[in-house]
Amino acid sequence: METPYTVRKAVQGFEAYSAGLSIDEIKEQYGLANVIKMASNENPLGASPLVIKAVQDAAAQAFRYAQSGNPRLAKAIAKHHGVNEKCIVTGNGSDEVIDLLIRCRAEAGVHNVVTFKPCFSLYELQTKFCGVELRQVPLNPDFTFNWAAMRAQIDNNTALAFITTPDNPSGYCPPVAELEAFARSLPPTTLLVIDEAYMDMCGDEAAHSLLPRFVEFKNIAILRTFSKSFGLAGLRLGYGIMPEPLADYLCRVRPPFSVNILAEVAGYAALEDQNFRKLTLKTVREGRELLYSELTKLGCRVHQSWSNFLMLRLPENCTKTADQVFTALLERGIIIRQLKSYHLPEYLRISVGDMHENKALLRALAEILG
Ligand SMILES: *Cc1c(COP(=O)(O)O)cnc(C)c1O
Repeated sequence: METPYTVRKAVQGFEAYSAGLSIDEIKEQYGLANVIKMASNENPLGASPLVIKAVQDAAAQAFRYAQSGNPRLAKAIAKHHGVNEKCIVTGNGSDEVIDLLIRCRAEAGVHNVVTFKPCFSLYELQTKFCGVELRQVPLNPDFTFNWAAMRAQIDNNTALAFITTPDNPSGYCPPVAELEAFARSLPPTTLLVIDEAYMDMCGDEAAHSLLPRFVEFKNIAILRTFSKSFGLAGLRLGYGIMPEPLADYLCRVRPPFSVNILAEVAGYAALEDQNFRKLTLKTVREGRELLYSELTKLGCRVHQSWSNFLMLRLPENCTKTADQVFTALLERGIIIRQLKSYHLPEYLRISVGDMHENKALLRALAEILG
């Protein structure tokens, strides 16, 4: 007899998203007073002081519902990028926009979704959750994009193709001409979703992003987030920029108050704080350069990154596994990211920290690698 707890086939045996470890977990487990987290690509400077003030000021409004659809925030985001506000869909993190795009576009048993492999796991998870066919195309061995192989997997039933640029976990960022050629090669029935969670950290957006020329394309959606360079990961705020008719559908079906009132005021303040943004981008650039050169000196095989994290393998002659090095860092109070959930067990990913954190990581790693 069926239990009342039966779930859809797609949900049975579902594996949850694998998140980076938290500071509190590690403090407790290893009995440490100080723990550094360089695992989840968060902003090393924290949140902007203007944001903190805005959230404090708005705290008394916590009993109110936010304005459904966040029109004031959508307008500010649209102005920030120079696009029509009707093209903006805000969400509880860009994770929610990814979920909405898949659920709005892809019909189980009819459509398919195409991604590279490895990729940001949310695309895989939400596609599987919907019971929709997932087609994954291996990246090139050097983690550049095999466009031809991806194009070959796309047919008239491909509802969505997901690209992450700069990519996670490699940090690779293709030139915009490659993206443009790919977007133009697609059938009109396929939406190319370009996840630009880290694009503002690449140093030259015009050379890497189609966003400045968004209006020229009918089949692209671009995702951005306040979680990384804006330092608002814990408040959950992201958005998509997509053709107006599609944005309208997403706005109709999305839960009306998924972006809460504090996230809304925080996003608004974060966009205003130009100084904090400049300082963040400078901190990321300098930290990335330092980590790249010093990790390379330690013999690590580091991938070039256009983002606020670096992916690496240990030195060729290293007697320790990535697993052992990861644990040895934890024992020293430093959390980085293992990439087992990306099926890259030999690789590690390190988020750029502030200068103190970067140096602590380098010291600890030098010690561990001996
Ligand atoms: C961090 C990240 C996001 C952002 O997710 P939020 O839900 O906005 O916090 C999106 N895509 C990729 C590839 C990421 O690494």
